[in-house]
Amino acid sequence: MSDTVKALTEAVRGRVITDKDADYDGARRVYNGMHDRRPRAIIQCTDSADVMAVIAAGRDSGLDLAVRGGGHSVPGFGTVDDGLVIDLSPMKHVLVDPVKKVARVGGGATLGDVDHATYPFGLAVPGGVVSTTGVGGLTLGGGLGYLTRSVGLTIDNLLSADVVLADGRQVTASDYQNEDLFWALRGGGGNFGVVTNFEFQLHEVGDVVGGPMFFDYEDATAVLQCYRDYMARAPEQLGCFFGWQIAPDLPFIPKDRIGDLFCVLVACWNGPHEAAEEVLKPLRDAAEVKAQFVEAMPFPALQSLFDDSVPKGMQHYWKADFIAELTDEAIAAHVEHGKNTPHISSSMHLHPINGAAQRVGAEETAFGHRDKSFAPVIVGIWDDPADNEANIKWVKDYYAAIHPHSGSDGGYVNFMSDDDDERAPANYGANYERLARVKATYDPDNLFHLNQNIAPASAG
Ligand SMILES: Cc1cc2nc3c(=O)[nH]c(=O)nc-3n(C[C@H](O)[C@H](O)[C@H](O)COP(=O)(O)OP(=O)(O)OC[C@H]3O[C@@H](n4cnc5c(N)ncnc54)[C@H](O)[C@@H]3O)c2cc1C
Repeated sequence: MSDTVKALTEAVRGRVITDKDADYDGARRVYNGMHDRRPRAIIQCTDSADVMAVIAAGRDSGLDLAVRGGGHSVPGFGTVDDGLVIDLSPMKHVLVDPVKKVARVGGGATLGDVDHATYPFGLAVPGGVVSTTGVGGLTLGGGLGYLTRSVGLTIDNLLSADVVLADGRQVTASDYQNEDLFWALRGGGGNFGVVTNFEFQLHEVGDVVGGPMFFDYEDATAVLQCYRDYMARAPEQLGCFFGWQIAPDLPFIPKDRIGDLFCVLVACWNGPHEAAEEVLKPLRDAAEVKAQFVEAMPFPALQSLFDDSVPKGMQHYWKADFIAELTDEAIAAHVEHGKNTPHISSSMHLHPINGAAQRVGAEETAFGHRDKSFAPVIVGIWDDPADNEANIKWVKDYYAAIHPHSGSDGGYVNFMSDDDDERAPANYGANYERLARVKATYDPDNLFHLNQNIAPASAG
C-alpha cells in the first residue's frame, strides 16, 4: 500500500478500497461498462471531512482525482487509472422541509433517492428520466427532464451548494455568497470543486398522468413533425420526449409486434388529471397509437419506468447536439438513421427546451444554450463489447447526418462521450470565457480535470 493510501486509511471515516480488497472490482466499476479502469484507491466518503482529506492527498501526491456522484457519465469520469476516486455514494441523505418546500440533498444521492424522499410530501425536484442517475453530475451539467418545461432545468431550482474547493476549504455558494462560483456550478459541470450538499427548491408534483405511446416507424415523420409543433405551444405542465424503441416483451405490447421498431412519445402530465386526455390528444392524433402504457402513476414510478432497460455495466457511446430548430430536413435524417436502431436499449432521444427553462436569462447561469429548442442525443447502448465497432458506427453515422442541421456547434455537456473533449468550449457556449475565469479563481491548477474540462484562464 502506498504512503498516500495508508495515510488516507487513517484520515477518513469511509472505507478505502484498494486492489487488495475482495470488493475492489465492484467498487471500481462505473455505469458505462467500457471503462475498465484500476484506481489506486476508491475512497467512500462519508462527509465533507473525508472529501477534504482525499483532495489534500490528491494535491500532495499528484495522483489524479476522479469525483463520482452516481457514476453515470458516459466518458467514465467517475473512475481513473492509478488515481484516487472520491466516491460520494455514502452521502445520499435527502432532508425535506415541506413547509419551506426545500430539500437538502447529499452529493452522492441518485434521482431515485430524491424522489423516494420527496414524493410522500407531494413534492419533487426536477431531474432526468432514469432514476439511477446521480444528482451530482446531472445537476452540475444542467438537468433536463419531464419537468423542464414547467419549472425549468434542475439548476434553475438550485438554491445553494456546499462545495469543497481545490484548496481544501468548504464554502457555500448561492445568490448571496460566492456568487461567481454559484453561477459557474449551474451548468459548468464538476470543474469547480466537490459538492457535498445541494439545496433545491421543491415543486408540487404528486401523481402524474404519463408513460409511452408507441407509433409505427412508418409514421415517424408525421409523429416528429406533430411533436415539434405541439411542444412549442402545449401547456407547460406537459413534459414529453421522443425516442426510437424496439418493442420489449411487456404486457401492453401486442405479441406479434415484440421486437419491431417503433417511435415513441413518453409523456408526463403534471396538471389536473381530468385534463390529461385533452392535453395528450394532439400527440395521439399524430398517427395511430399501436400500443401504450399511459396512466396515472406516482411521479417516481414514471421516473424509474426505463431503469430496467438500461442496467449498469452495458456498453455506451453517445453523441449529442443542441438544435436551434427541428427542420423537416433534420427530421428526414432522423427517420433515415433511426430505422437502423441496433439494440433494444439504443435510441435517439429528443428533449424539449422551452417554457420555464427559457424564462431564465442566457447569462443568469452557466448553462449556455437556453435559446435552443431541443437537445437530441443518440444513445448507443448494447451488451456485448464484440459489437462495439458496429454500434459506435451507427451512432457516428447518425450524428454525421443530423449535425449539419443543428444550427449550433454545442451539445449538452452531460450527453458527451470521451472523444468529445475538444467540444467543451462550444458546449459551454457564450459562457465559456467567464467559466474559464471562475475556474482560474477556484481551481487554478486544474485539480478537477476529469470532466468536460474548462481550462483555467491564464492571468493577464
Ligand atoms: C441512462 C442515463 C440516463 C440519463 N438521463 C438523463 C436525463 O434524463 N437528463 C439529463 O439531464 N441527463 C441525463 N443523463 C446524463 C447524466 O446527466 C450524466 O451522465 C451525468 O454526468 C450523471 O451524473 P452522475 O453523478 O451519475 O455521474 P458521475 O459519472 O458520477 O459524474 C459525472 C460528472 O460530474 C461530476 N460530479 C458528480 N457528482 C459530483 C459532485 N457531487 N460534486 C462535484 N462533481 C460531481 C463528476 O466528477 C463527473 O465529472 C443520463 C445518463 C444516463 C447514463
